[in-house]
Parts: sequence; structure tokens; C-alpha cells
Amino acid sequence: MSKFVVTAANEAQRAAWLGGTLPEVEKVRPGLWSIPVPIPINPLRYVLVYALELPDGVAIVDAGWNTDEAYDALVAGLAVAGYSITDVKAVLVTHIHPDHYGLAGRVREVSGAWIALHPADARLLRDRYDDDYVETLVEQEKALLVRSGVPQTVLDTLAGASMMIRHMVTMARPDRLVEDGDRLDLRGWDLRAVWTPGHSPGHLCFLSESRRVLFSGDHVLAKITPMVAVHPQSTPNPLADYLEALVAVRKFEVDEVLPAHEYRFKELAERVDYVIGHHEDRLEEIVEVIGAHDGITCWDIATRLTWSRPWESIQPFMRRAANNETLAHLAWLEAKGRVRRIPGEADLWYSM
Ligand SMILES: [Zn+2]
Ligand SMILES: [Zn+2]
Repeated sequence: MSKFVVTAANEAQRAAWLGGTLPEVEKVRPGLWSIPVPIPINPLRYVLVYALELPDGVAIVDAGWNTDEAYDALVAGLAVAGYSITDVKAVLVTHIHPDHYGLAGRVREVSGAWIALHPADARLLRDRYDDDYVETLVEQEKALLVRSGVPQTVLDTLAGASMMIRHMVTMARPDRLVEDGDRLDLRGWDLRAVWTPGHSPGHLCFLSESRRVLFSGDHVLAKITPMVAVHPQSTPNPLADYLEALVAVRKFEVDEVLPAHEYRFKELAERVDYVIGHHEDRLEEIVEVIGAHDGITCWDIATRLTWSRPWESIQPFMRRAANNETLAHLAWLEAKGRVRRIPGEADLWYSM
């Protein structure tokens, strides 16, 4: 499909993203600030934290990764906007990934802010970040990789691939659970939560109808498509959730999409259409691979798909992601009756 290119809402921010630098702390519009907070060892480089001015302080959408560097950047960014970290009244978290949720607990500690999260993500916290439970999660991930046909030689590396980043997240429990359609209690803001599962089971976007902006988290981004994968904590068919949640936000009439990474942009509906098309292409590619190799494992399908770089140069952590993303597409195709799974020690996939 032909590539649709969004219009950046601020050309300097886009240039910073493309140029590999950190964008400026910026007043997006009256009462609303964008604060880039660096994230370590990650090609996304920064998360865009949004600060929403309130009569008595400030609310933030997402918080950043739990490192001193990130914390300092958040403090400095708030200072540019005229606020202290102790002025933060609320932390609205789009989802539990460490680059969004990691610092929430530390911000609450110093400011007394309340933390909002969707219940479907709140439920995952213990198993993901508590030392007493995380071993089980690694075992479940390993079982999933075995059923995907991942070779024994790389199994352990792949199964434990995300453990190194766990210490960068604190186990803060949310103070308020926010469901689809809930109005956030923030004076001066008509903010409504929109449940957008897929990238994470409890992913939330926040819509302001009066200001015509959507805080899109990782759900819709300017250039990258967020990872949608089957993993031990996902729903059985996360791609179906995700595509449905894309349709749900497509109808919003906004002037600007405020994502958590890269840069702000203007065209929501067109970008949604493009992302849907991208997944449709991917689904067809997978059907073709199975057609040519009936009885193939998920892992062997993944190695045959086109990725942004040759398979051989993809890091273990990203290979696991690639496998689990492929599995999400397979689950979608299976639910639609387009492919068949024969369960075994490793599941084998067949054309219908
Ligand atoms: Zn994420
Ligand atoms: Zn993210």
C-alpha cells in the first residue's frame, strides 16, 4: 500500500525526532505543555509527557521511565512550564509499560498526586513486577515460545529478555481505576477516557472534545505502529481488540493527535486507516507464507516475514516481539477461519 504521511503539528518537534535529538519543552496551546522525558536503551528515545494546567497545580499524562535522568527531565520540564514536581495533582497513565508508568509512583511520593490506570492494566501489575510472581510469568512466556516453535538453543535468552528492565519500574498501585467513558475529575478540562486495548489490555486514550485533542498514548503514533502481541498477559486475540479500538477513535473530531512518542500530528482518521491497512497487508503476507509452507510453526513464519531489518540482525528481545506479534496475527486469522492450528508440542499452522 502507498505510504500515508501525517502532517506534523510542530515541524521543529518532527525535525528533532528525525534528527535524533530531544525536542523542546513546549507550550502546545494555552494550559497544555509537552515535556520530552528520555528513556534509556530504547530506540524510541523519549516519552512525551503532557502537563495539563489546573487551577491549583498540574495533571500529567504519563510519567516516564523510573530513572534519575528521566525524573530530572520531568522536574526541569515542569519548571519551564512554571510548576514544581510537588504541584502535580494527578498522573493519568495510558498503560503500564515502563516508559509510561515507571515514574508514576515516585511522582506520587513527592507530590501526593493520584494515579489513574485502567483496571485491565492494574490487574497485570503484580505478576509483572513482583519478585514473588515474575518467575511464573517467565515460565509462561517460555511455554508460549515452545508452542511457537522457538528453537531450544535460543529459548532461555528469549524468555528472560525483558527481565533486565524490570528494576526501572516501581510497583505503585493506582489510586483510581478509570474505565471507558469515564470523565476525569480535572477542573478546567473536559477529559474523557477512551479504552483502547490491544497494545496493552488496559490502554487508555484521553479525549478533550472542547480542545479538540486526543492524547493517544501508544495507540496511534505518527510513524511507528505499536506492538500488538500475544503474550502471557494479553487477551487471546489482541489484534482484534486493537483494530476495534482503532475504529473507536477514528470518529473523533480532533485538530491534533498528542501521542506519547515521536511527534504530534494532525490527521487522526487517515492515520488510523493507514495502520489498519498495514495490518491487513501483514495478515495477507502471513496467509501467503502458510500457503507456501503448510504445517509451519509461528517462529518459522516470523523468520520469513519482512521486518525493518534482516532477521539475522534482529536482537533477541526484538525477535521475541516479532514472534509474539506474528502470533497475534495468527490468532486473528484463526478466529476468522482463515487458517488452522494443529496443537502440538509446537503448534503447526495450515491453510484452510
Ligand atoms: Zn507501550
Ligand atoms: Zn511507549
